[in-house]
Amino acid sequence: MAKQYREVIDLALAEGRTYLLEHESKAVLESLGITTTGAEVARSEDEAAKIFKSLASPVAMKLLSAEVVHKSDAGGVKLDLRDAGEVRAAYRDMVRAFSGKKIEGVSVQRMARPGVEAIVGVANDATFGPVLMFGLGGVFVEILKDVSFRSLPINASDARDMIEEIKGYALLRGYRGYSADVPALEKLLLSISDFVLSNPEISEMDLNPVFLYPEGYSVVDARIILGEPRPQPPAPVKQDLHDLFYPKSIAVIGASGTPGKLGWNVFTNLVSHKFGGKLYPINPRADEICGCKAYPCISAVPEPVDVAIILVSAGVTPDVVEECCKCGIRYIVVESAGFAELGEDGKKIELCMKEIADRYGVRLLGPNCSGIINTHCSMVQSIGIVDALSMGNIGLVSQAGVCAAGMLWGLRHIMDFGIIATIGNKLDINETDILEAVSRDPNINVICMYLESVKGGRRFIDVARRITSEKPIVVLKSGRTDAGKKAVASHTASLAGDDQIFSAAFRQSGIIRARDYEHMFNLARAISKQPFPDREGVFIITYAGSLGVIAADAITDNGMRLSELEPPLKDRLKKLLPDYVCGMNPVDYTFSQDAETVKKTIEIGVESEDVGSFIVVLQAEILESYVDTLKAIDYRGKPIIACVAGKEFAMPDVIKMENAGIPVLSTPEQVADALAIMYRHQMRVKELGAGE
Ligand code: ADP
Ligand code: MG
Repeated sequence: MAKQYREVIDLALAEGRTYLLEHESKAVLESLGITTTGAEVARSEDEAAKIFKSLASPVAMKLLSAEVVHKSDAGGVKLDLRDAGEVRAAYRDMVRAFSGKKIEGVSVQRMARPGVEAIVGVANDATFGPVLMFGLGGVFVEILKDVSFRSLPINASDARDMIEEIKGYALLRGYRGYSADVPALEKLLLSISDFVLSNPEISEMDLNPVFLYPEGYSVVDARIILGEPRPQPPAPVKQDLHDLFYPKSIAVIGASGTPGKLGWNVFTNLVSHKFGGKLYPINPRADEICGCKAYPCISAVPEPVDVAIILVSAGVTPDVVEECCKCGIRYIVVESAGFAELGEDGKKIELCMKEIADRYGVRLLGPNCSGIINTHCSMVQSIGIVDALSMGNIGLVSQAGVCAAGMLWGLRHIMDFGIIATIGNKLDINETDILEAVSRDPNINVICMYLESVKGGRRFIDVARRITSEKPIVVLKSGRTDAGKKAVASHTASLAGDDQIFSAAFRQSGIIRARDYEHMFNLARAISKQPFPDREGVFIITYAGSLGVIAADAITDNGMRLSELEPPLKDRLKKLLPDYVCGMNPVDYTFSQDAETVKKTIEIGVESEDVGSFIVVLQAEILESYVDTLKAIDYRGKPIIACVAGKEFAMPDVIKMENAGIPVLSTPEQVADALAIMYRHQMRVKELGAGE
C-alpha cells in the first residue's frame, strides 16, 4: 500500500486539479490504513447496479462533481438504498438534477452504521504551516465551534491532548468506558499528521464526518485539497548568540554628546550602568563622548568589536552595516527606525541590510528595536534612559522596544529582570532565536515574551517545548482579532482563526498565555519568586471574611480546592484561634490578625499533606509589619502569594514584601488564578515530558 496514493495525487495534478474527489480522497486514506466507507465510481445506471451487488445492502450514493462542494445541500447524497431498483432510480435522479454541472459520475458506497459524528481536518496556517483540527460534528462544530488545533507534526500525547481538549470530550467518554474508541482516533490523527508532512502539496483536508464507534471509526466523507508544495522551513543558523548578550566591547554608531538625542541616551545608559567591557562611540563630529574617546568611523577603531549598535538614519544604515561586516563585527543591533514598519520603501532598505548581513554571516538584531539589557554584565542598550536595575532571573523578550522600557521604569522595583531583549522588526534574529539564547542563560529562570507575530514558525513550538520543562515561558500575544478574511477551500481552514492557532501552539509547547500585561507580570513575579504548587489544596488565611470567601470561590472556579487539615493539625489550629473564629479554611482572624498568628498558622499548614499552597490576605495599612516574619518562615517548597486590597496605595511596603520574595497581588481572583496556572503548568510540563 506504501505510496500507492501517489498515483491518485499525481493524476489530479496532471489534470490540473487542486483537489481530490471523494472517491479519490478515500482511496488515498485507505492506502494509509485509514478506515473509510469506500466509494466506487459508477458512470452509468448499470455500473451503479453492479457495484451495489458487490456491496452489502444498504448503500449510499453521492454525486461526484468538482462543481458541487456541499453535496447534501444540493441533493447530491442519497442514503440507505436497499435494492437495485432504488440504486438505479437514485442514479437517474442525480444525473437529471445536476444536468447543468460537469459530473464525474456517482459514487456507490457502504452505509456506515450510526456513530458519534466527528470532524478531522487540516489547514495551512501562515505562521505555523500545516495544522490539524479535531472536533465533534454537527452543531458542535457549526455553532459551538468546539474544535481543537495542533501544529503538525503531532506526537501521541498531542493527539490525546487535542481530543481531550474539546468540551464535547465527555460525549466520547460516554457513561461506561469509552463510547468512542479514543485510541483508534489517536491513531487516525497521527496517520494524517505523517501523511501531510510527507506530502507538501496537501494544503487542506476535511474528513467530515468521521463516525466514531466503541470500536474503531469510519471516514464517511473526505475531501483533500492540493496546493503549491509548502516550502521547507530554512534551517536555523547555528549560533548561540552568547557574545550578543555578553559582549566584551560595544561600538555605538551614531553616539552623541547632545543630551536628548537617542545616540546620547544609548551611550549614557551604557556608561552610567557601568558596562564592564570596552565602549567605542562612533561620531565623526566628536572627539569624546561621556568621557570615552570617539572615532570617526567603525573602521578607525583599533581593537576588535563584538557588537555594533547602529543609530543612524534608515537610509544610510545598509552602508553602515556593510562597513561593520567588513570590520569583522559579528553582531549588529540596529536601533534606528524607519524600515518595514513604514511601508515598502523601508522594507527595501531592510532587505538590502539582510542581504549584506547574510553575505558576511553576521547576525542582526532589529531594526526598530531598543537593544538588549543584560544586568548580569551591566549592559543597557536602551533608547530611553533607564534607572538602576537589579540582577534578576526574569528574561523579557519584547517585540516592541518602547513598551519594554516603559514598563521597566516602575516594574524594576518589584520584578527582578536579568535580560530584556527587544527584537523590533525581526529582520534576521527572530523571537525563536532570542528565546533559545535567553533560555540557555543560567542566570535566567523565567521568560516573558511580548509578541505580535512569530517568524520562527514550527521551530518556535519545538524550541519552546524543550525550554518549558525547565524554564516557564509566559507569553502575551497581541493582534488577537483576525485581520482580513483568508481565501480557504475547506471547512477546517474557515475555522482556523489566527488566534486559535496561536493558543494551540502555545498549549502544544507548554507556554503559559497571559491575558494582558498585568497578568503576564503577575505570573512572572509569582513564578520567579515562588515554587510551583504540587497539589490542588489551597490554604487561605485572611483578616477579612469577604475576601476569604471570594478567594475560596476563585480557587474553585480555577479548578483548585480548599485544603482540609488532618485532625491533629486542626486541633493545633483550634488552640490558636480566638473564640469567635470558627472556620478552618479560610481562617478568618478579622482585624486581630497579626504577623505572629499568620506565621503560626502557616507553620501548621506547611505540615499538612493536603496543603499545596497558601493565600494570605493582608491588611494594606499594616503590611510592613508582616514582611520580616513572613520572609523567615520555612515553607518547605510550598508557594505563598499575598493578596492586598488597595495595594497601589501602599507601594513602599508592597515593594518590601516583593523584595522579601512574596508576590503581592490586588485581588483574591488574581491570586487564585496565578496559583491555578502554576499548578496546571507543573502538570502540563509533566505530561509533555511523558509524551516525548
Ligand atoms: P457533504 O458534506 O458534501 O454534504 P457527505 O458525504 O458528508 O456530503 O454526506 C452528508 C451526510 O450524509 C453525512 O454527514 C452523513 O450523515 C450522511 N452520509 C453520507 N455518506 C454516508 C455513508 N456512507 N453512510 C452513512 N451516512 C452517510
Ligand atoms: Mg461532508
